[in-house]
Amino acid sequence: MSFPTKSTITRLAPSPTGALHMGNARTFLITWLLARTRGVKIIFRMEDLDHPRVKPETKQEAIDDLRWLGIDWDEGFTNDDDIKRYTQSNRTEIYKQAIDKLIKKKLIYPCICTRKEIENIRSAPHEGDYSPKYPGTCRDKFLSFEDAEKAIIEDRLPAWRFRCPNEETVFCDGFQGKQIGNPAKSNGDFIIARGKYGAGYQLAVVVDDAEMNVTEVIRGDDLLPCTHWQILLYKALDIEKKIPKYFHLPLLVGPDGKRLAKRHGDTRISIYRKRGYSPNKLIGLLAYYSGFADFGEELSINELQKRFNINKIPKHKITVKSKDENILK
Ligand code: GLU
Repeated sequence: MSFPTKSTITRLAPSPTGALHMGNARTFLITWLLARTRGVKIIFRMEDLDHPRVKPETKQEAIDDLRWLGIDWDEGFTNDDDIKRYTQSNRTEIYKQAIDKLIKKKLIYPCICTRKEIENIRSAPHEGDYSPKYPGTCRDKFLSFEDAEKAIIEDRLPAWRFRCPNEETVFCDGFQGKQIGNPAKSNGDFIIARGKYGAGYQLAVVVDDAEMNVTEVIRGDDLLPCTHWQILLYKALDIEKKIPKYFHLPLLVGPDGKRLAKRHGDTRISIYRKRGYSPNKLIGLLAYYSGFADFGEELSINELQKRFNINKIPKHKITVKSKDENILK
């Protein structure tokens, strides 16, 4: 295994809200390949802020699944000491500082609207999770968070919403090229926390990537719209220089064209691992979906590393057929 030679850092950031399946395993595999073929350091971060949806058993399972595939990392969850530092639920203090800074700069405001998105802000939004544009109902309604609390009759907490400036956000994606957005026009002000200091995904991911000096973010392209919001947060927190390079990968999809999910069949990695299937068969299949192998080839992760070429990764969604997995048996 080559040791990192540059100060380039990427991360594997699973959310323990569900099992690792073929779709997210492929994203992690490509992250690993992009890193290992270029001497990039890999950190592992557990994104467990979404308390009601966190399934504790999936934390260790994700680690076991990745290790079974041969995906390793350099920092985070390598020893007991750094588990704390790399687990989001242990990092509330650092998020609090960021929230206080945004309050001081008057860049966020309390919002009492009851919307599905307020309930779901702790997780990264994936396909179908994006809400319609926020009309700005609470923009200039409350003088303080406490005022907003008083205005809620039911037993729930106000959220903090980011006041989007009406400006374009531009970045050059490593897979998809130039991207131009304007969150104020597309989705409107977005939620960054629930309760006074309950940081949500958008804020936590920015604060963490900046604090952990992450320079490259590789993830599924269903998170591409979030990048425009996250760029606004980097600017608002005065850490614009820390904006990483983004690579948004086209996703694996089921026959219906939707992001690979349970309803398309059980593609949990732990199932293949527990059945005693060969990890090399699965690596071969994921390599096939990524343009590096023929269907049915078996490959070790180190053999795959020699074939890796970013330009071969298809630019379009890749359809997984249910009978594909028969070759794993
Ligand atoms: N933890 C997020 C997820 O599993 C990934 C977030 C990100 O890469 O920014 O969807």
